[in-house]
Order: sequence, then structure tokens, then C-alpha cells
Amino acid sequence: MFSSIKKIIGKLLNIGFEDEFGNDLNQKHVVNFSYMMFCISCLFMLIVFSLRQMSSVAIFSLVGLLIGLVGLRYSYIGYFSRAQLLMPILKISQISILSLFYFGTNSGFHWFFVNVIAYSFVVFRADQNFAKYWIVSISIVLFLMCELLNTRGIYLTSFDQSVIVIFVFLALSFNFAMVINLVINRLKSVNSHLRTLAEMDELTGLSNRRKVLADAVNIFADSVINRESCVFAIVDLDHFKKINDTFGHEAGDLVLAKVSAMMASVIRPQDEIGRYGGEEFIVIMSDTSLKDAEVVMERMRQSVENMLIETEHGIVIPVTVSIGVAAIAPSVSRYEEILAQADKGLYAAKRNGRNRVSVQSDYQS
Ligand code: GH3
Ligand code: MG
Ligand code: MG
Repeated sequence: MFSSIKKIIGKLLNIGFEDEFGNDLNQKHVVNFSYMMFCISCLFMLIVFSLRQMSSVAIFSLVGLLIGLVGLRYSYIGYFSRAQLLMPILKISQISILSLFYFGTNSGFHWFFVNVIAYSFVVFRADQNFAKYWIVSISIVLFLMCELLNTRGIYLTSFDQSVIVIFVFLALSFNFAMVINLVINRLKSVNSHLRTLAEMDELTGLSNRRKVLADAVNIFADSVINRESCVFAIVDLDHFKKINDTFGHEAGDLVLAKVSAMMASVIRPQDEIGRYGGEEFIVIMSDTSLKDAEVVMERMRQSVENMLIETEHGIVIPVTVSIGVAAIAPSVSRYEEILAQADKGLYAAKRNGRNRVSVQSDYQS
């Protein structure tokens, strides 16, 4: 029940836009949220005042509700700037009329102008400063007017006024809490999206060099602390320049993407893989013996060899990889040393005819 309510609210917040990580997302969420709150408060007042047979306030609330729904519809059909501007106009009119003519300025209802000012600062971008400052100025002037006029409500008893003051306080607090929460959550999700982008290689979808080397540092340190074996491998596509020269750069990109996907699918879930640069990749296997790592790498080599990658003209591009493998040793104090050792293995594999796995375990040579 709670999760389905959350889902519905999430859907309403996302009305009218699909770009999940767009710059304006926070503003859009706040606009939709404000309409939701506005419609709920109008509905609430409509029910209360209908029950108390105060038909003019009830009709006023109904009109507010309908205009609020129009605003939500604007947002839904993509007229965002209209929705953005209609909301403060609506709120300013509602607060002024209710405060001056119905509840009386004694009710404290005009404190809702704080909400309009906060809305303007969150929702309008720098290039919309004109609208922002107009709305803020009008809100301040009207707030001061209500403060100075000190009119009594025509409809409300002093008990009603106290109830309204409490209602205004609670609604404002809730509103601020929700808006701040909304903005923080959006920033968090945009942040994590940016982090993913910063750590991912665009062409292959694997970790990029920065990420895989950061993983290497962490895994190496953990392995030293836990006295576990860890193995690094460097994978290099054979004669890749020839693939580019023969089939074109685009076909080369396709090969890189397909081979990457294949390599990622054959390693074990606990292993890490990333693009080291060009057509070279690093595989990090924590808590793994050199023998087991060799088995995994041999499986990778065979899987790549057996791939059938076709150009758009249906020609199969033959692809193989050479792999150098090295494990942590007692004399090793930096992960770069294992990497250098794996690189030696890679050169040995290339020297011995390519399309093979070469294990390097002699740190003295
Ligand atoms: P070897 O078997 O000795 O590794 O030979 P190789 O041709 O694979 O190695 P070399 O270092 O001579 O060439 C690597 C080529 O990879 C050169 C470069 O243009 C190409 N390359 C690097 N990054 C990309 C990329 O993102 N896309 C494409 N299509 N080619 C790339
Ligand atoms: Mg190569
Ligand atoms: Mg290379």
C-alpha cells in the first residue's frame, strides 16, 4: 500500500519529462510537487468548507483545484514554463484573497507567501531572474500589506483562526521538508549518475582506466592485508591495427565493443575488468591462485577466438587476444609491479606467436 502510494507520487512528480538526469529536473520536480500540494490543499478546503456550508469559500477552493489541475496538465503536455509561472500567480492570488477577505490577516495565513518566495528561488533559473524578482517583490509587498492591515476574518471564529495558524505552520514545515528532501534526492541520483559516467568507458561499457586502476589499488591493498593471492592480467587484441586498416575504424570499434562484452561475460562475478587504453584491458582477480586465474584467462582467450563478429557486409572478422598474467608475490610492495609483470607476460605471449596466455611468475627477470 505504502509502496504503491510512493509509486503514484513518483509518477506525478515525473509528469511531463523523460530526461531523467536533465539540468532542470529539480525545478520540474518542485513545480509538479507544488501543484500536487496545491491541489491537495484546495481539495481539503473544498471538503471542509462544503461540510461547514460556507459555499463561497468552497467554490473558491473548487476554482483553485481546477486551475491547479490545468497547471499539472501544462506540465504533462510539455508547457513547462507556463506551468512554472502559473503556480506562483495562483498561490499569490489564493493567499491574498483568503487572507484579506475570508480568514482575515489575523489568521496568519499570509505566512504562506514564504512558500511562494522559496518556490521562486528554487524553480526559476538564472535566465528567468525577471520573473523571479517580480514574484518575490509582489509576495513581499502583499505580505507586508497583510501584516499592516490587520483585518478580521468574516467567516472565522477565533478558534478557527488558531486552527488555521497551526495548519499554516504544519503545511509550511512539511512543504519545506519535502522540497529539500526532493532536491537532495535528485542531487544524489544525478551525482551517482555522473560518477558512473566518470568511471565508465563509453565505447565498451567497461570500467575506464581511472576506475580499473583505482580498483587495482584497493584490491592489491586488501590482498596484502588479508595475505591472499591476487592476480592481474593484461589482455591485448592481436593485430588490431590490421583490423582497423582492413575493415575500417568503425568495424574496429564494433570489435572492441563485442570482445569487451564477451570478456566481461566469461570472467567470474568477483573479478574486475576495465579498459586500460586502446585495445588493452586489465583483469583483476582477487583471492585467486595463479593456476585458477590461468584457467579463467584461457577460457577468455578461447571464447574470443570462437567469436563470430561480422561486418555489415557479412564478412567475419577474425579476432584473437594475447594475455599476460602475474600474481602478487612476497617481494611486491606496489600493484604497479604486478602490472609490469603481467605486461612482460603479454610481450612473451606476443613474441611466442600471439593468441595465447602467458603466465609470468619470475619477478627477478
Ligand atoms: P599487436 O598484436 O602487437 O598488439 O598489434 P596491434 O596492431 O594490435 O597493436 P598496435 O599497438 O600496433 O595497434 C593498436 C591499434 O589500436 C592502433 C589504434 O589505432 C587502435 N585503436 C586504439 N583505440 C581504438 C579505438 O577506440 N577504436 C579503434 N577502432 N581502434 C583503436
Ligand atoms: Mg594489440
Ligand atoms: Mg596494444
